[in-house]
Amino acid sequence: MMNNRSLLSGLAAALLSVSLLVGCSGGSKAVPAATTPAPAPTQPAKEQVVNLYSARNYPVDTVLYEEFTKQTGIKVNVVQGKAEELIERLKREGESTPADLFVTVDGGVLNNAKESGVLQAMTSATIEQTVPKALRDKDNQWVGLSTRARVIAYSKERVKPDQLSTYEDLASAQWKGKVLVRSSTSLYNQSLVAALIDTNGEQAVQTWAQGVVANMARKPEGGDRDQVKAIAAGVGDVAIINTYYYGQMLISKDAEEVKAAEKVALFFPNQKTNGTHINISGAGLTKHSKNKENAIKLVEFLTGEAAQAKFAAENFEFPVNTKAQKPELLKTWGEFKTQQIDWVKLGTNNKKALELLTKAAWQ
Ligand code: FE
Repeated sequence: MMNNRSLLSGLAAALLSVSLLVGCSGGSKAVPAATTPAPAPTQPAKEQVVNLYSARNYPVDTVLYEEFTKQTGIKVNVVQGKAEELIERLKREGESTPADLFVTVDGGVLNNAKESGVLQAMTSATIEQTVPKALRDKDNQWVGLSTRARVIAYSKERVKPDQLSTYEDLASAQWKGKVLVRSSTSLYNQSLVAALIDTNGEQAVQTWAQGVVANMARKPEGGDRDQVKAIAAGVGDVAIINTYYYGQMLISKDAEEVKAAEKVALFFPNQKTNGTHINISGAGLTKHSKNKENAIKLVEFLTGEAAQAKFAAENFEFPVNTKAQKPELLKTWGEFKTQQIDWVKLGTNNKKALELLTKAAWQ
């Protein structure tokens, strides 16, 4: 999903134009002040920007950023990277960072960013009104943009939904040689395990992970979509995947993806126990943001009804704004019980989760 090269060079261009403006005329296209003589006491109009360091990378993001620019005239520049690397970069750059927002897809990582001291509180009555308390940092250093569930995908042909119940059951004998899941290097799996450690305890989760590994249809490979394709191809019968990938496949331009997804259905596990595992995607205001107002405006825009409906319609994520329209697919999934987990735990349990997965030989 690497599609942000142009945005990357956009950032370079924007930074260049900003630094040129400091020095002299600039040469950037959207700077009316350069051609019209500015009234003496007013500053020449600087190009309005907001700079993102983002570990989130879905086509819908670009669509929304462009829409924001259209509405506000504020240009959105994105530097794409791995979350941990971006946090390190923010630490290293300190006051000189060009970044205004840090965007990522995991509650634990958002909290790590906060703990690393690279964020600051976002003050916005709008955000406090639209985003429920449980979906933002208690000090508003980060705000949720969407949630996603990690569920069980199953073969419509070979599995009856009443055979399915919990994540824990994926280690039981009935799934011998039938479980598909990506590698333990995936943060999605690490956070699922981190959450399970919180509810079940380390020992139980260790045994579970070993059971899942013993039940695997093949060594972990590919991403979540590849697990769905493998079910369709008969490699295995059940897979652990994020909900939105299934939605994306159903509306994919690739006919093979559509065909594969149609052979598969989703099951929301642990409804009778502690709920389905969810995670959060969110944005944090950087401590040394130079475009604070623009950054807050962007977060207000992204959590607004229209943008939230788009996250749901085009990426099948769950909106954080309860007023946002949901597409049919999300409606058919209905309401479901979600794990009540402190996002902080996903981060603090991460190391344990990784050790445990490695010990279980979950590649
Ligand atoms: Fe993803």
